[in-house]
Amino acid sequence: MTTVTQLKCACPKCLCIVSVEDAINKDGKYYCSEGCAEGHQTLKGCHHQGCEC
Ligand SMILES: [Zn+2]
Ligand SMILES: [Zn+2]
Ligand SMILES: [Zn+2]
Repeated sequence: MTTVTQLKCACPKCLCIVSVEDAINKDGKYYCSEGCAEGHQTLKGCHHQGCEC
């Protein structure tokens, strides 16, 4: 039995879909990258082309 749970990255400008297993969990929200998880205070963008975050 396989459970695949996919969520949109919690960063508002990010379009990435992440699986719960691979996501960065911060404060109960799931993010696709460290940059998204920290709110892009020091890291711009994510590693995904087409996102404007
Ligand atoms: Zn993204
Ligand atoms: Zn993201
Ligand atoms: Zn982002």
